[in-house]
Amino acid sequence: MNLNIIEISKTYNNGDSFALYKFSQTLEPGVYGLLGPNGAGKTTLMNILTTNLKETSGRVEWDDKPIKSLGREYRSLIGYMPQQQKLYDDFSGEEFLWYMASLKGLSKTDAKIRIDKMLDIVNLQDKKDERIKNYSGGMKQRLLIAQALLNDPKILIMDEPTAGLDPEERIRIRNFISEISEGKIVIIATHVMQDIEYIADKIILMKKGNIMEAGTPDELIRKVDGNVYEGIVNNKEIEELKMQENVLISNARYSGNERNHVRIISKDKEKILQKMNQVEPDLEDVYLFYEHFG
Ligand code: ADP
Repeated sequence: MNLNIIEISKTYNNGDSFALYKFSQTLEPGVYGLLGPNGAGKTTLMNILTTNLKETSGRVEWDDKPIKSLGREYRSLIGYMPQQQKLYDDFSGEEFLWYMASLKGLSKTDAKIRIDKMLDIVNLQDKKDERIKNYSGGMKQRLLIAQALLNDPKILIMDEPTAGLDPEERIRIRNFISEISEGKIVIIATHVMQDIEYIADKIILMKKGNIMEAGTPDELIRKVDGNVYEGIVNNKEIEELKMQENVLISNARYSGNERNHVRIISKDKEKILQKMNQVEPDLEDVYLFYEHFG
């Protein structure tokens, strides 16, 4: 079971600007974190994978068959959780799921079974009759996940699934995604590393329509090993660090007595100041490293 994205490009303005440029990646069951700043091309890629947008060139294959030739058969494999969806505030949670099931073409019998199961899975059974407008942010997100899962998709695509949630809800949704991901290709697009840090099997860092770097969280961390430093420096030294082109200050905690604690990411694997110590990078460092120096 694999989804093979082969040299997908999407251009606008007669080819003058592009949202994706020769993007290639093979996806197998597992959780993929699609990470990149605004404008990197994440939405464009998701829209092409859900067939809501047509690529300019390249192709996508599902188990070696072009998805174009599979048509409806391919679309029935997809579950999509958009970032913002008009959630029909006056519907109850269950009514919304019935509505979505009818859009997806599920029969009444199938819909009844699936809706009941989804309400269990997303833990909304006891809130199913409540109006959506009374739902919390986390409940709304869970309802959106439930609709994406109605057709038991093999490919689940989620756009910022934890947007607008408080830290506790974020953690709950993250764990929940991890729980339901078994045997599926799950793609989570986000610009927040914490969303995918703990649940992604593979992280794909995107910039300007292409992949900057991709790998397991451990692999990515190893790539910037030796590039991250911490130390106590005075104000003048901070100013000097700021001037260096190959240095990014990722964190500075100023203190009144000139003993400021800074964390820096250096493009070159060399010590910037003798008094700084090399430290273990985390994924936030990886993201910043590629974002600034990639
Ligand atoms: P992301 O989801 O990572 O923020 P997008 O896929 O939305 O990125 O956008 C990628 C790039 O493509 C951006 O530079 C954006 O301005 C451009 N783009 C997206 N849609 C269009 C469009 N309809 N016309 C022109 N440019 C577009």
